[in-house]
Amino acid sequence: MKKPTIVVVGGGAGGLELVTKLGRRLGRRKQASIVLVDRNATHIWKPLLHEVATGVLDSGVNEVSYQGHALSNGYSFQRGTLCNLDREAKSLSLAPIMDGDEEILPSRTLHYDYLVLAIGSVSNDFGTPGATQFCHFLDSPQQAEGFRKDMLNTFLRYQASEPAPDSTLTVGIIGAGATGIELAAELYEATGMLHSYGFTQLESDQLKVHLIEASPALLGMLPERIGNAVGKELESLGVTIHLNTRVTEVKKDAIVTADGEELEVDLAVWSAGIKAPDFLSKLGLSVEHNNRIKVHDTLQSIDDENIFVLGDCASCPQGEGGSVPPRAQAAHQQASRLYSNLRARMAGKPMKSFTFRDHGSLISLAHFDAIGNLMRGKSTRSLFIEGHLARFFYASLYRMHQRAIFGTIRTGLIIIVDRLNRYLKPRLKLH
Ligand SMILES: Cc1cc2nc3c(=O)[nH]c(=O)nc-3n(C[C@H](O)[C@H](O)[C@H](O)COP(=O)(O)OP(=O)(O)OC[C@H]3O[C@@H](n4cnc5c(N)ncnc54)[C@H](O)[C@@H]3O)c2cc1C
Repeated sequence: MKKPTIVVVGGGAGGLELVTKLGRRLGRRKQASIVLVDRNATHIWKPLLHEVATGVLDSGVNEVSYQGHALSNGYSFQRGTLCNLDREAKSLSLAPIMDGDEEILPSRTLHYDYLVLAIGSVSNDFGTPGATQFCHFLDSPQQAEGFRKDMLNTFLRYQASEPAPDSTLTVGIIGAGATGIELAAELYEATGMLHSYGFTQLESDQLKVHLIEASPALLGMLPERIGNAVGKELESLGVTIHLNTRVTEVKKDAIVTADGEELEVDLAVWSAGIKAPDFLSKLGLSVEHNNRIKVHDTLQSIDDENIFVLGDCASCPQGEGGSVPPRAQAAHQQASRLYSNLRARMAGKPMKSFTFRDHGSLISLAHFDAIGNLMRGKSTRSLFIEGHLARFFYASLYRMHQRAIFGTIRTGLIIIVDRLNRYLKPRLKLH
């Protein structure tokens, strides 16, 4: 009997974990052909991007080569960007790979028996004039690196000013969700480190961060106590928080708010809201208003029983009229459910429903603090935590991801190497 081909598009928080499990179990035993497709050659866990953006984390050290990982985990890797789907022919098209104007690989077509879409989400700027042109986004490692280079150049210009500037260096962050908040804190951490690496013109109190949020509270989806504690900590660092403030336009050096105020900024970052990539709504599958593909609780598309969707780009039902939140924790849990469901489907057995277990939410405020809540078992009551304990649980989410893709022993070794690197390398990526 011909072995089936499972193609997973998107090697992110969920997709890479899924393909690793499938490859180790089915690929190595030649029971199925497992193919991972990603537009990038390497993987970096998306919740680390704000650290890549400030240089606190070196993407070169933390990235995983798909090609190498595929070889040791029983799957194959195809680099390419999904651009079209032919459900009748059970095939998908990948856009040509270009290097500038030069075509490295022409467009290709891949056949699948089962297809998994795990291509994540992008920021939603809601069509705000000037946002695409003048804001940085943190949707991909390339964008995070772009922000880091721009930030270093801005600091360098500031450092070179004679006499020492008495003005502030201002960063505007639009959107005070976890990404915006964590980035704000990391900026203060990075500024402190840059000062110790010789950028002495810039004192931490000369960095000004405006955190702009349209809703009336910070982290409105979490218990009020967490938003309040985070707000206090950010203000003590020097962050100015603007609540109930809608941004109507972004200019080259200013952010314009609905009440006509213009906040002058040296750098602007957009981190308000997400949506699935626009092209998903053109694949012939049912989507929600924010392009997320509608799936049954088995993670199967409601239109095609051979197409599965997981992570940020899936609209998976949860509770009464709700859907699973777009979080790394959810993508991690869905990868495990989908692994079992794909095997059940191949064996002609019934598939199980996915239920999201919320273990809590943690916000990292660089080395200054970590704040959040842990959920107690299946109850909806949560336990407020902060400080070292919160930092431990925050870090453990990434370690769980590493364990899923490398196994326990290699993750232990990586932890040791990370510790050693703290002594061997500068704490900030400076080039
Ligand atoms: C700065 C930041 C901090 C965050 N912090 C947290 C946190 O603390 N806790 C938490 O739970 N969540 C956090 N999140 C959200 C979390 O990162 C996402 O929910 C999670 O990564 C979603 O996983 P995914 O597998 O759906 O997609 P992703 O991890 O985004 O992976 C998508 C993959 O698809 C690939 N891809 C995209 N388009 C295509 C295409 N057309 N063709 C081929 N490949 C494609 C991408 O290269 C990528 O590898 C954070 C997000 C950001 C940006």
